[in-house]
Amino acid sequence: MLLDKSILELAAGLRQDEFTSVDLVNECYDNIAKYNDKINAFITILPRETAIKQAQSVKLTSPLSGLPFVIKDCFNTSGITTTAASHVLKNYIAPYDATVYKKLLTAGAILIGKMNMDAWGHGGSSENTDFGPVKNPWDTTRVAGGSSGGPAAAISARMAVFAIGEDTGGSIRNPAAWCNITGLKVTYGRVSRYGSIAYASSFDTVGPMAKTAQDCAIVLETIAGVDPYDATSSPISVPSYSTLLNKKVSDLTIGIPDEFFQAGLDPEVKTAVLKVAEDLKNAGAKIKNLSMPLFDYGLAIYYLIGPSETSSNLARYDGIRYGQGREFFTDETTRRILIGTYALSAGYYDAYYKKAQQVRTLFIEEYKKALTKCSVLLQPITPTQPPKIGELMSDPLQNFLADIYTTSQNPIGVPSLAFPCGFTKTGLPIGAQLVGPMFSEDLLLNIGYQYQQLTDNHLKSPLSKGDLEGLKPKP
Ligand code: GLN
Repeated sequence: MLLDKSILELAAGLRQDEFTSVDLVNECYDNIAKYNDKINAFITILPRETAIKQAQSVKLTSPLSGLPFVIKDCFNTSGITTTAASHVLKNYIAPYDATVYKKLLTAGAILIGKMNMDAWGHGGSSENTDFGPVKNPWDTTRVAGGSSGGPAAAISARMAVFAIGEDTGGSIRNPAAWCNITGLKVTYGRVSRYGSIAYASSFDTVGPMAKTAQDCAIVLETIAGVDPYDATSSPISVPSYSTLLNKKVSDLTIGIPDEFFQAGLDPEVKTAVLKVAEDLKNAGAKIKNLSMPLFDYGLAIYYLIGPSETSSNLARYDGIRYGQGREFFTDETTRRILIGTYALSAGYYDAYYKKAQQVRTLFIEEYKKALTKCSVLLQPITPTQPPKIGELMSDPLQNFLADIYTTSQNPIGVPSLAFPCGFTKTGLPIGAQLVGPMFSEDLLLNIGYQYQQLTDNHLKSPLSKGDLEGLKPKP
């Protein structure tokens, strides 16, 4: 299948006339026709004919030219609906393009769909959506993760070459782990968020999701950089990430924070994540155990500041200016608006919001300190295997707890690479994350690439036996 190939292989194949961009587009749409009914990854599928027309006339000016991609439905795309998976924005068509989308169009990539997600980014299972839950291609009775579940499931089931996701507290990393793909939560400010529907403005990041670290590097060098339309975008120059992947890992120290590997972590997930350290050690890296005692506060900081910011960001959806009224918010979103409004209200502001911001500052120091003792930190992404559909939604507290390992990085701003690191006995994917200092995407992608040269988990797809249903683990 062409879609098993890497971006570089596809770019080379197009140039050597081994296949055409039209072949690629057709393969994506054939897989969508075969599998999307079972997975529900898309909110909008763009017409095949439109994509084919673009493919026929594409000029090969960049490695992404002629490659079909998808984006989470929280990015504005003029002429195409943008819903954030909420009926509040059911028929909303933005009058302008998100910067990330514009950059990809300029590079010649071909958009084929807008993807299902937890509404407004509120969730970690892509069940809090008004368009029906996304199902995990590895076992369609289970969730794909979230909130960027649609993009992850689509890459995993070979419906697109790469995807753009958004990560406020794990939304790229969590579905990457549960769908067996690679995803990068970038440093705050590395990629413009102009035209991305805001969840929590001091946490939100835009990043690539793809099969491999090398693919993510190529997409990142296309989408990163300062943007006059986003005052939080960083002027730091963008390295050519894809040419910086070849350094060996032997002079690196991998930090393992004890607190991330304690009670509550599924033993199979723990074993698979710690095996990454072993593999890197065998490749010459040093391993250092260390302690991050503030770990326990990460979730509390996130779930005070995140809802506070979302209660402010969602105030614009009053049904007067655009979209439909507030009665279209789901229970999960209403819960977050209520928590945030409460944490910001007079009398409680000092006790909750301000306190959370103070502890956030301590947390920033803790990460800085930990990253002076090692080059990068190895952490789990999810405490469990992908839950059954419905399990997390029926227990809101459990739902928040599922974010325990992915919410501490966003308040800090540091980047984190999520990648496949093994499978459970029943054949479900497991992911690990490497967290580095601010703007260390080059380092993270370099280690990810080196790790993927040593292992083959990332090459496995739920389609390798030719039939999604056939892969369902026995109950
Ligand atoms: N699961 C987390 C939440 O519900 C993270 C979501 C995200 O990164 N958008 O807030």
